[in-house]
This record gives sequence, C-alpha cells and structure tokens, in this order.
Amino acid sequence: MAINLTAYHQILGELAPYKARLVAVSKTKPVEDVEALYEAGQRIFGENYVQELVDKEAVLPHDIEWHFIGHLQSNKVKYIAPFVKMIHAVDSLKLLTEIHKQAQKNNRVIDCLLQLHIAAEETKFGLDETELYDLLDTWQQEQTQFSGVRIAGLMAMATNTTDETQIRKEFHQLHSIFDTVKNKYFSAQDYFKERSVGMSADYTLALQEGSTMVRIGSMLFGERNYNK
Ligand SMILES: *Cc1c(COP(=O)(O)O)cnc(C)c1O
Repeated sequence: MAINLTAYHQILGELAPYKARLVAVSKTKPVEDVEALYEAGQRIFGENYVQELVDKEAVLPHDIEWHFIGHLQSNKVKYIAPFVKMIHAVDSLKLLTEIHKQAQKNNRVIDCLLQLHIAAEETKFGLDETELYDLLDTWQQEQTQFSGVRIAGLMAMATNTTDETQIRKEFHQLHSIFDTVKNKYFSAQDYFKERSVGMSADYTLALQEGSTMVRIGSMLFGERNYNK
C-alpha cells in the first residue's frame, strides 16, 4: 500500500485540538490509494483536475465529499456541478456566476471559497485585496443572482519557501482579511467560517495561524509523479 497511515493518524491528532478538517489531496494518485484512505475513515478528498475528478467520482463511494481545489475554468464547471461539495479556488465573478448557474441546473447549492493571493510569487492565482472587496460588493448588491453558491470562506497558498516568518506573516494576513470580510459582509451568516490554508510543508504553521481546513497530499500519498 502506497499511502502513509502513520502520517494520516498523526495529522488527525494535530488537527483535533483546533477542530480543523483535513482535505486529503489525491490528485494524480490512483483510485486504490483513495480507497485505502477511505477505509481508514477519511471522507473529504481534494482534486485539481476536472477530468480526473469526474473519473474518480464515478467509481468511488458516494459518501465521499469531493472538494475541487485547483484552478477551475468556467467552461468546465458543468462537469463537476452535479456532485462537488466545495470549490476552493474561486477567483473571479465570472467563475462564481457560472458555478451559480450550474448549481441551479442541478438544484444544488455549492460551497465556494474565494482564493486570496497572499504569496510573494507572481505566478500563483487568486484575488488581491481590492479585487476581493470588489467581488464581494457585487455579490452583496446582487445576492439573488448568486443563490446557487454559498461563500463559505477564504482559501490561500503561502509562498513556497522555508522562511517560517514569511509563511506565518502570510497566513496571519489571510486571517486578518478574513475577519474584515466576516464583519463587513457575513456577520449574520454562520456558514462563512472556513480558512483553507496549509499543505504538507506548512500546515502546522497554518493551524497556529487559524486554519480551519488543511489540504494535504504528498504527506499522505507520497510524492507526485506528473510524467507517468
Ligand atoms: C497539490 C495541492 C495541495 C497539496 O500539496 P502537498 O504539498 O502535496 O500537500 C494543496 N493545495 C493545493 C491547491 C494543491 O494544488
């Protein structure tokens, strides 16, 4: 078996005091590995690629809660809208509008997280602070046009660095923007509560800085090989 059950139980132990949840990131990994972690009790799995997610969902148990954590193109929302539980990386009004449309077609409400750009790298996706507030202003003015989506919180990725001070600063920034957004737009909505931050390399810091959801792949499933 390729999965690391020792790491799985260790992570669950670390999450428990914070009441944070684990998204097991299974992208590029075979169905058998997902099944093995499912057998161990895991129910929330995260995927980055639409076709791979659709293929896995079709053959795996139906009580799995699938989270889409990658960059999502609007024209592909329709393939995952029938079943996806949460979309983590929403970074435009266009995408949010399309998720709403496809959710309605399926008589569903899909939980979405807005992706905030906190990393120093230019290449990572996500909204800057101004874009975030612009999007939320529109959402607030036209809420009936977004009844198929529920904005459940924020998501971010820290800079890929070993500098803990830098990473901590970025997670801290996310948390403070979360508090501002919560007060300004969601003070009466208890579903706006998620901070999806932390991966294999930095989830311990993320938890200390208020993460409610960590997305962990390689620590559970081993390193990914993209050229198989
Ligand atoms: C792949 C991925 C992860 C998991 O990364 P690991 O370093 O393998 O834990 C988490 N979040 C996102 C958005 C990813 O694309």
